[in-house]
This record gives sequence, structure tokens and C-alpha cells, in this order.
Amino acid sequence: MNVNSVKDLEISKGDKVFVRCDFNVPLDEFGNITDDRRIREALHTIKYLIDIEAKIVLASHLGRPKGEVNEKYSLKPVAKRLSHLLHQDVVLANDVIGEDAKEKVKSLKDGEILLLENLRFNPNETKNDDEFAKELASFGKFYINDAFGVSHRAHASVHAITKNFDDSHKAAGFLLLKEINFFHKLLKNPARPFVAVVGGSKVSGKLQALINLLPKVDKMIIGGGMAFTFLKAQGYEVGKSLVEDDLIEEALHIMNEAKRLKVKLYLPVDIVVADKFEENAMVKYVTFQEIPENWMGLDIGPATVRLFAEVIEDAQTILWNGPMGVYEMDRFSNGSFKISHEIARTHGTKVVGGGDTADLVQRAGDDEEMTFISTGGGASLELLEGKKLPGIEALELK
Ligand code: AMP
Repeated sequence: MNVNSVKDLEISKGDKVFVRCDFNVPLDEFGNITDDRRIREALHTIKYLIDIEAKIVLASHLGRPKGEVNEKYSLKPVAKRLSHLLHQDVVLANDVIGEDAKEKVKSLKDGEILLLENLRFNPNETKNDDEFAKELASFGKFYINDAFGVSHRAHASVHAITKNFDDSHKAAGFLLLKEINFFHKLLKNPARPFVAVVGGSKVSGKLQALINLLPKVDKMIIGGGMAFTFLKAQGYEVGKSLVEDDLIEEALHIMNEAKRLKVKLYLPVDIVVADKFEENAMVKYVTFQEIPENWMGLDIGPATVRLFAEVIEDAQTILWNGPMGVYEMDRFSNGSFKISHEIARTHGTKVVGGGDTADLVQRAGDDEEMTFISTGGGASLELLEGKKLPGIEALELK
């Protein structure tokens, strides 16, 4: 892959550098950052630019404010944490490309850092709008993409913006390069058995990835909210569990493909069900055949943990993306924590992808045991599928 590193650019003291970071960190209900890995991982590139005494303009999204200003998704906590980690002031603009941002970019001094407000406060970010991208590009003589987690999206700050910079003025940051290099190596020759462990809630976002991953893996475990679409596809009652009805056909197709490709596919065999989506709900442990009407499955049960543990025991490569249950609530975190411990105990290459899964692995105290914790869930899945990511393609040298 032919992409410049930030080190290849001739950046001098006082040059303005626009860096697209991925500061999309998980927050608790009080707006506190629960896992700052994505911020810490961005420090390498930022410190490099501080040492050069460049004028640094950082930009990121946070959550899904859907194109509107929403205080809940302000980057304020990120600016604070970043400043703490760097022992240096980080100025936060009140807007993205408005008067305040422009004023603050203009008055940046050498070695200073400005963070723009949440890119997704502007609807043009996700539309990959050229005019918006041009405004962003005007904030930097150089452009660095260090946001692996969004590089699979053709959004203005990772895709359209690159049209405003020639090859000697755009590059990948250290984090982006580290991620790409790791996954390329992993894909070339993964040690087998190769097991994918997939969970989380976004079935629609991951089905295509599951189909594309099937030919590459030996076994696939499906847990979390996703599993219920598969159980329903097999004709089981899943009560009020999370199901995407329009994807049932797709789920059947995946199960058939797995059979055809001789990939062993595992689903939960018992479920922790609750009468409501709350920490203090009534809870029962049931087999997957016996989910009561009006109850919802919020975690995998103990028999499933044992089954999944056995499946991964001899794995030489494990790719884990998505929690096994609603791990944010203590009562439904058991399955995810136990699977985290089981994966941590294996001896092969253990790769964790996605903000939630990284957060969970850290809460479980297993982060040190993992081989690689990627800052990108969707992006790492797409790389492993062998797809070209728009944000990375846009940096490729002509
Ligand atoms: P994703 O972003 O798709 O990786 O999904 C992560 C989210 O899935 C977490 O916030 C979990 O709380 C949620 N999740 C996992 N299992 C379930 C479930 N059984 N029902 C509802 N949500 C779930």
C-alpha cells in the first residue's frame, strides 16, 4: 500500500496541519469518558507535530448528532482529557467551520492545538460534501488522517477533503498506519483455526461483513443482540429481544453459506432474559428454545459461555467484534466479561475491534492480554474482508 506517513511530509515550524482524529469515545450517562484509548492512541501523531511546533488543528466526530448542534455530543470532555494527557492547553472551537473556528485557527501560535467542535454537528460531514470539505481544508497546509475508525466511511473530513491536497501535503498518521499494517499482516496468513466472535446490536451494519468473512474463517460465533435475528430465522420465539425482521432472509443465507463453506457457526444455547430493558428488571435464565413472550434476551447464559469457551480454546487467531450482551448494565455483563477472560486466556493472536468491545475488554481487565486492540470496529471488519477503505484509498500516491 502506497501511502505517505506523516514523517514523509516536509512540515515546518508554524505550518498549519489539519488532523482528522477519531475521538469517538464511549461516554457514561453523566458525559464522562469511560475509555480514552482512542485519545491516547492519537497522541503519537499529535506529539510529533508539537515537536515540530506546527499549528495543529484537530477534528473529530462524537456519536451521532445527525447534523445538528447537540450539547450532549460536544467534544468538551475530549478537549479536557486531551489537554490532561498532553499537559498542554487544548483550545476548543465553539463551532466546526463557523466564525469562532475561523478566528481561532487564525490566532493559533506555533505548537498550539485547536480542536474543532463535533464534525457531525454539520450535516455536510456525512454527505461527503465538497464545499464543506473545502472549508475544513482551508484550516491546514497539510492534511493528516489518523482516524482509522472512520476510514471505511466516505465522509467529508476523511474523503472529500483529500481532493484539496496534493501527494506531498497529505498523509496517514501513525495510528492509521499501525492499524493498516497490522490487519494486512493478519490477513496474509492467519494462523488457524481462525475464529470470528461477533456480537453487539447493529445487525444491519455487520451482516455483509459476516458474509464476506465466512470464506476466511474456520468458525464463527454469533452472540449479543445479533443472535436473535438468527434464532428467529430458525423459527424460534425470541420474545421482545432485539430483532431486525427484514434481515431474517439474510440471516438464513448466512447460515446456509456457513454450511456450504464448512464453517462451523455457533449461536447461544441459553439466554439471560429480562422483563424490561433496565438494570433492576426481573431476570430469568432460559434455554434458547424457551424465551418467554414479552421478555427480552440481554445476555448469553452460562451454558453458552462454556460452549463458546470450548470453541475458542484451540483457536490460533481470534477476531472479536461486539459484546455478548448489554455489558453496560452489571446484571447483563457476565457473558461478555467471561468471554473476554476466555479469549484473553488463549495463546494465539487475539484481536479486538470496535469502541464498545475495547471498552468492555478494559473493564474486564483483559486489555493487557490482547494482541491488538483496534480503534476501529467497522473499519477493521472491512479491512479483513479485503475491502479498500475510502479514507485510505484517498491517500494513495498517484
Ligand atoms: P455494536 O455497536 O453493534 O457493537 O453494539 C454494541 C451494543 O450492543 C452495546 O451497547 C450493547 O449494550 C448492545 N447489545 C449487546 N447485546 C444486546 C442485546 N442482547 N440486546 C440489546 N442490546 C445489546
